[in-house]
Amino acid sequence: MEIGVINSLTNGGRCFDHVAQFGLKVCQLACWDTSLATREVARVVVEESAKTGVRVCAVWAGWSGPAEWNFTRGPITLGLVPREYRAQRVEELKRWADFASWIGAPAIITHCGFIPENMTDPEYLPVVDAIREVAQYCQQRGIGFWFETGQETPVVLLRTIQRVGTDNLGINLDPANLILYGKGNPIDALDVIGRWVRNVHVKDGLYPTDGDHLGREVPVGQGKVRFPDFLKRLKEIGFDGELIIEREISGEQQIRDIRQAVSDLQRWLAEV
Ligand code: MG
Repeated sequence: MEIGVINSLTNGGRCFDHVAQFGLKVCQLACWDTSLATREVARVVVEESAKTGVRVCAVWAGWSGPAEWNFTRGPITLGLVPREYRAQRVEELKRWADFASWIGAPAIITHCGFIPENMTDPEYLPVVDAIREVAQYCQQRGIGFWFETGQETPVVLLRTIQRVGTDNLGINLDPANLILYGKGNPIDALDVIGRWVRNVHVKDGLYPTDGDHLGREVPVGQGKVRFPDFLKRLKEIGFDGELIIEREISGEQQIRDIRQAVSDLQRWLAEV
């Protein structure tokens, strides 16, 4: 399990010093602005990646339109679930699939949204169809399509993977999201979706304490994930992908928290 960090695609692709400053050699390249998914930016990314010795293990693909990370408006704004943004976002994810194939990354990752838990919901199958359209496009380009956990329970994700049915699907397991959204316990979730996990976000958090808002993200090691046990279980099920540190704050505190997470992870990994 190699330690890496989220890296925002900025500065036309000259953004790999962010990773190198932590002594890390792998990242997920994340971006919400599809206008950057160009051949020219891809060329710069390939160059900078080679120059700094930092590998891109996936492209975290964002989409346009509103995004509200809460229980009240999340279901009508996030991912491929809201019908009014679906077609446009399918096209944007295809642009990121092109970009990922140009830079040689193995997959794109995104949040699909609050996928209906009730499989007889009339919107469920259209959402599955939209995901399949993106997944098949990725397949044609020789890359994977990975779901980031968050807005759905592990069993909803499993059911959806079965229904999408392409052979290039995977999961980017964000253990904190399962907690922040109150959707599951990340260690137990591995019993349900463990075999699909390709990358892990190293993020921590607390469960919701009211019905409208997500729980609070906290520094790694200070929340409910229980990283030493989580890492042990990942090893038991044979996971050998990347552990990508994600700290959703900015500035100096983010840098300090990432450094701390790197050193804690190294210590925990030595013990599993
Ligand atoms: Mg995440």
